Amino acid sequence: MSDRSHRFKLGRFECMVVNDGTFAYPHPAQIFFANAPKERLEQVLREHNLDSQQWEQYVSPYLSLVIDTGQHRVLVDTGADGMAPTTGKLVENLQAGGTSPEDIDVVILTHGHPDHIGGNIDSDGKPAFKNARYVMWKDEWDFWIPKPDLSQMKIDEELKQLLVTFARNNLPPIQGQLDLVDQESEIVPGIKAVSAPGHTPGHMAVAISSEGENLLCFSDAAIHPIHLEQPDWYSVFDLAPEQALASKRRLMDKAVADEALVFAFHFSFPGLGHIVQRGEEWQWQPIA
Ligand SMILES: [Zn+2]
Repeated sequence: MSDRSHRFKLGRFECMVVNDGTFAYPHPAQIFFANAPKERLEQVLREHNLDSQQWEQYVSPYLSLVIDTGQHRVLVDTGADGMAPTTGKLVENLQAGGTSPEDIDVVILTHGHPDHIGGNIDSDGKPAFKNARYVMWKDEWDFWIPKPDLSQMKIDEELKQLLVTFARNNLPPIQGQLDLVDQESEIVPGIKAVSAPGHTPGHMAVAISSEGENLLCFSDAAIHPIHLEQPDWYSVFDLAPEQALASKRRLMDKAVADEALVFAFHFSFPGLGHIVQRGEEWQWQPIA
């Protein structure tokens, strides 16, 4: 399997996971599991053959999803062009997979973080998907524009500045092609916006269904499989942690009830798998 793109079918929809590249997060134990009790964290990491001191980085792919419904070609998230030399490969990998940016007629932005909106614009600062309407949750847009309040986040100033800069560069240029949603509704037939606030104020999941088959794109409701095994653990990137945990529970319950295939933006390529319920917890079962 090439790690540039991965095709699969959902009912009669043709889908493709497209890789924008990878990013190495330093000190993952501290930033991903911000509230984990120390001893329990050590124990859980050992079960995953990891050590909190020696685990120096987590290399996350940045995965977008293309859904061709027959009527529409929908892209979910646009990667992190300009964030690191290892990111920004979305358009190249889309084209290698046989889709050009002009073919995309809907771009769904799950939230306003750099790794999800970084490919909104081209090198001229114009919308990179010129034939598309961009869709975002209204609370998300209202949070980032004109200037977000990040004072609750326990991250350093440099990282906060990165978030602000990416939003300022990548959101205003799409305003002329933008549709905001403020309730759970169909974006195009078979593709529905699902409210999942907490990671950010208007963080959105996407539920896709065709001919009785379901796919749930939960975006950053979990950024590491351990977030499924530990329902109460959250990362420093969650703006409103308690709300994020409630959204995570609702999404995982939905994935289990719908027997959905799940698409996870930050999990190992291609980010596809199933959620298995184990009592109060869940487990990630990647596709073979
Ligand atoms: Zn993310």
